[in-house]
Amino acid sequence: MRPALAALAVAVATVCLPAVAGADEPGFVTPPTFARAKALEPAASYVAGKPAQVWCTKTYASWNSFVRQVFGVSEPGANGMALPGGAALYIAPDECNNLLFAVQADPQDANAAVKALAGPIETLTHEAIHLRGESDEGITDCDAMHEMPGVAVRHFHITPGKHLRALMAAAWIYHRQSPAAYTAVC
Ligand SMILES: [Zn+2]
Repeated sequence: MRPALAALAVAVATVCLPAVAGADEPGFVTPPTFARAKALEPAASYVAGKPAQVWCTKTYASWNSFVRQVFGVSEPGANGMALPGGAALYIAPDECNNLLFAVQADPQDANAAVKALAGPIETLTHEAIHLRGESDEGITDCDAMHEMPGVAVRHFHITPGKHLRALMAAAWIYHRQSPAAYTAVC
C-alpha cells in the first residue's frame, strides 16, 4: 500500500542541532514513538557517504515533543534534525510521508507531485549533508540545493527535464523562505 501524500506546511525551516565536541552519536534518546524509515535510508546514505539511519514519527505531537526535548524550547518550524557527523537523521511527519510516497511511486506519480516533494527532498539532503560533519547551515543548505537534483532523480523517481526543473523551481522558493543563516551562501 502506498502512503498518502500529505499536504506540506508552508514557510517551514530546517533546524539542526549544534555540533557536540567529541560526540559521535546524538546526545539524546530517540523516543519510542519513532521508527526507522528504512526505505529512505539509501537516499540518506548516498548523500552522507556512509550508512545513515532515517527516523520518522507519525504524529506532530511526538515530533514537537522530540524537538522540544532536543532544543529545550519549541521549534515549530523544524522539519528535520541531524547531529553534524552523526549517524541518524530525523524527519517531520508530513515530509517523511511525502518522501515515502515518492520513493515507492512510479515516475508519473512522483513527477505530478514535485511541488509537494521539493521541501522534503531538500530537507533529507540537507540533514544527510550534516551527517558528513558539516555544521554550517549556509554551506549545508547551499550544498543541499546543488546536490538534490541528483538525489531526486536517483532515489525519488523525478525525471530529468521539465519535471526536475519544476522541482528545483519549487525548491529554490522553499530555500529562500528559510532563515538568513540558511541562505547566507546561496
Ligand atoms: Zn541544518
